[in-house]
Amino acid sequence: MTGPTPKPWIAAMTPYTPGRSTGGSNAPAIKLSSNENPLGTSARAAEALAEARGSLARYPDPGSTALRGAIGALHGIAAERIICGTGSDEILHLAAGAYAGQGDEILYVRYGFSVYPLAAQRVGATPVEADDRDYATDIDALIAAITPRTRVIFLANPNNPTGTYTGMAEVARLHDAMPADCLLVIDQAYAEYLDPERAAAPLALARDADNIVVTRTFSKIYGLAAERIGWGYGPPAVIEALNRIRAPFNVTTAGQKAAMAALGDQDFVATSRAHNAKWRAWLAGRIAAMGNAGLSAVPSEANFLLVLFDGALSAEAAYEGLMARGYITRWLPGQGLAHGLRITIGTEEETRGVAEVLEALVGECQAPGAR
Ligand SMILES: *Cc1c(COP(=O)(O)O)cnc(C)c1O
Repeated sequence: MTGPTPKPWIAAMTPYTPGRSTGGSNAPAIKLSSNENPLGTSARAAEALAEARGSLARYPDPGSTALRGAIGALHGIAAERIICGTGSDEILHLAAGAYAGQGDEILYVRYGFSVYPLAAQRVGATPVEADDRDYATDIDALIAAITPRTRVIFLANPNNPTGTYTGMAEVARLHDAMPADCLLVIDQAYAEYLDPERAAAPLALARDADNIVVTRTFSKIYGLAAERIGWGYGPPAVIEALNRIRAPFNVTTAGQKAAMAALGDQDFVATSRAHNAKWRAWLAGRIAAMGNAGLSAVPSEANFLLVLFDGALSAEAAYEGLMARGYITRWLPGQGLAHGLRITIGTEEETRGVAEVLEALVGECQAPGAR
């Protein structure tokens, strides 16, 4: 053997597959594969970002102090208990890195967020999947899968790629059943798509717990995915541990400024939430109308639908057919979902377009002489 050898647990990893951003044909690419905000970004955030670009030579504030203050003020939580990250992905990796390693287990649900196994494997820990219940989180299955080696439990709520939501009583039941030395990470990347009261509940649960971290992101409803900004809220001791291992200047100056401006524009958030609720319900209705062709949508509280294909039209054929007409969706055979497509709720025009293409593809499959 010549040259450096990666650690065996690194060599065994399968890299993250991002949502495709380019189509396969000449048709204009409409990207509905990464759950981004189709309405874009708050104009105020875009302005703040442009302004911050003026001074490039100085390092950013290493502690994202003003941004943490703004997050704390908006959510009524202590800024000292917040950590900002290069996307919330970084916080997920930090949680795994600070609390798990070789011989330890990191637990999450089947059809969970695809970063969780990577976060576990990166630190040599063993990823463990608990069974789902009709694609939704099964708290009993998670509790049954806890062992003395379980160090971290990742729970996305709403979940990605299913969009399913687990009620807070169930989340609290999981927390009650966990050993005190095991960390629960409640990944709220899609929190802002819930009504604000339900969105805030995990923060309240975390406030009084010694082993809960809640993560949030500016990549989804806030429309700042390009800048890579997320945050976590947890007990002081946990936040301190995560801060030890994060990169010192992990959020750019422009990112910090843009995120603060975005927080100040809650009208944009409310507009985005309402747009999403309206068109998610509309698309779910159109999918339900194709039920006789084997299509169904998993009930979603997020900004996407997981559409299942159990008829003549396969998910793969639908994926290819949509792609040929310029609609990029997410087909997830690598996650055990070869029969499903995850479709982000787009603009009105994009959402209507997706439904029309699906209806045409279903029609082609049902036409006499179709294969
Ligand atoms: C998109 C997403 C994230 C995070 O994205 P960042 O851009 O890294 O903040 C985290 N968890 C889930 C479940 C997601 O879907």
